[in-house]
Amino acid sequence: MSPPWFHVRPVAPDVWLLAEPSHVNSWLVAGRDRAVLVDTGLGIAPIRPVVEAVCSRPVDVVNTHAHVDHVGGNAEFSRVSAHPSSTTGIDPAERASYLGWMREVLDAAAAYRELDRRYFHLLSADSDPRPLPDGLERWVDPGPPPGPEPEPLADGDVLDLGGRTLTVLHTPGHSPDSLCLLDDRAGVLFAGDTVNTGPIYAQAPECDLGAFAASTARLAALAPEVGLVAMSHFGRGVAEPRYLVDVADAFDRLVTGDPSVVLRPARDCAGDAVSEAVFDPCSVLLPPGWSPDR
Ligand SMILES: [Zn+2]
Ligand SMILES: [Zn+2]
Repeated sequence: MSPPWFHVRPVAPDVWLLAEPSHVNSWLVAGRDRAVLVDTGLGIAPIRPVVEAVCSRPVDVVNTHAHVDHVGGNAEFSRVSAHPSSTTGIDPAERASYLGWMREVLDAAAAYRELDRRYFHLLSADSDPRPLPDGLERWVDPGPPPGPEPEPLADGDVLDLGGRTLTVLHTPGHSPDSLCLLDDRAGVLFAGDTVNTGPIYAQAPECDLGAFAASTARLAALAPEVGLVAMSHFGRGVAEPRYLVDVADAFDRLVTGDPSVVLRPARDCAGDAVSEAVFDPCSVLLPPGWSPDR
């Protein structure tokens, strides 16, 4: 029998990682009275039963942004909130392209797994990709139903879960609607796609490098209040707060035209050519041919 699609584990009191390993992480955070599911994943497997297995409180969804890998299970919930610049409706071509990427990741993992067991020991249940379930043609087209119309969230809004509050931070850059949530008391920052430990995606037409730099600088300034950064992608779902400063420094070097930034050609998960700016702890994907003086 194949392992379940989701891997779930607690990372802090009443905070759970719901990983679709090597693809995307959703996060569940519960207060005394209610809980928030931060993103709903790809929609390849139902997420609600996974949520209900660990938390009996009423659950509402907050989307960090409306990309295909963050909203797939929205229809399983009756209340969804997002930044109002969020767009609904995803072209099946995006899911078809991502399915190709998932197959590529699985092939790569088959080769890498043996090397990892022998030499590196980095793969874990959080990151080792699961076999793809059957029936993904219907996941591609028509795809998961879109779910309820999102209720608008604004920068500074506070969500009260009972003994726990989440403050909304509008952090455009990756997309106009990107937001983060800060669990003020526990110091957990849910960073969406604004901070990731693999390549950070700033290459798409809707990305805004200047806004990205401002947003990551804002998060870096919050680092003293943060104990844990909870992110959406790649093998390490959590980072220590110092990482916020590293990411902000990387974006600062890009927007100030630091000529020592190393750029190399790469490909994103849609298979499109990009320029990858390589930093010590992360990298940033930029449009192909990007140069600091543009
Ligand atoms: Zn995204
Ligand atoms: Zn994403």
